[in-house]
Amino acid sequence: FVIPDFQDFIKDIEEMYWAAKSNTDGKNASYIPQLTRASPESWGVSVCTIDGQRFSIGDVTVPFTLQSCSKPLTYAMALETLGPDVVHNYVGTEPSGRNFNELILDYNMKPHNPMINAGAILVCSLLKTLDKPEMTLAEKFDYVMSFFSRLAGNEVLGFNNAVFLSEREAADRNYALGFYMREHKCYPEKTNLRECMDFYFQCCSMEANCDIMSIMAATLANGGICPITDEKVLRPDSVRNVLSLMHSCGMYDYSGQFAFKVGLPAKSGVSGAMLIVVPNVMGICTWSPPLDPLGNSCRGLQFCDDLIKRFNFHKYDNI
Ligand code: GLN
Repeated sequence: FVIPDFQDFIKDIEEMYWAAKSNTDGKNASYIPQLTRASPESWGVSVCTIDGQRFSIGDVTVPFTLQSCSKPLTYAMALETLGPDVVHNYVGTEPSGRNFNELILDYNMKPHNPMINAGAILVCSLLKTLDKPEMTLAEKFDYVMSFFSRLAGNEVLGFNNAVFLSEREAADRNYALGFYMREHKCYPEKTNLRECMDFYFQCCSMEANCDIMSIMAATLANGGICPITDEKVLRPDSVRNVLSLMHSCGMYDYSGQFAFKVGLPAKSGVSGAMLIVVPNVMGICTWSPPLDPLGNSCRGLQFCDDLIKRFNFHKYDNI
């Protein structure tokens, strides 16, 4: 086993869980009512090792919407189906140094990276227009959903239609980004912007829980082979690219500080979810709705800080 004394490890995870549970910092996302209404008490942590050992504590089966945690997944799918050269013809690999929804492109007039809204909207256009272009939006939704599900050991994902409808209503900035990119000819030819935006909102509105998301993180930790089904879902080079950008761009405008302090690839979403990858060891998912001012889950961040204090998981711990 990659974690030989799993029982001991679980004790540490439990202690860190309870320590973070008493943290009442942060506020739920407020731009749509469904996220504002989520219980701020909710707190779950799930762990899945690359050899399939699992542990969960707290609200680990309560569904939440993927929100920005869908960004590394759609990016992974685009890399896998279109290859890195095609994808990075359209989207960069540089941290933006700005908010996730900032109206800004890089000096090549491309979105900075796939982990912010502009880049993720663009990745949605690539998946919609270049990969199996004959598919309707409905077929594409099923196709993407089943790909995500394979990353999660064939667990079934949900879809929150109220969140989808709210996302679409409260999307002035995302539409602005969408049009700004069209003005600068960022999309592949034949892109239908309305469909592309809907597809982006749909990806944000897919639902999973900590248990399911920890398997996705574990598939990334395991080089693209799902530890539960042993299916090879992603090529190692796709995983390398996804983890690289999660490492440098995954935590909004806190990404640099997180890379310095925690030193692990991670991705957070406004629902309070966080995917954390310990390469070659395990995947972790934490979920708790209250967010700090930069949009990261307060309890999730505390958990990561504690994890690095107790274990040598930081990328440069073993130097
Ligand atoms: N649906 C959100 C948006 O597009 C997702 C962003 C996020 O999780 N930070 O604004």
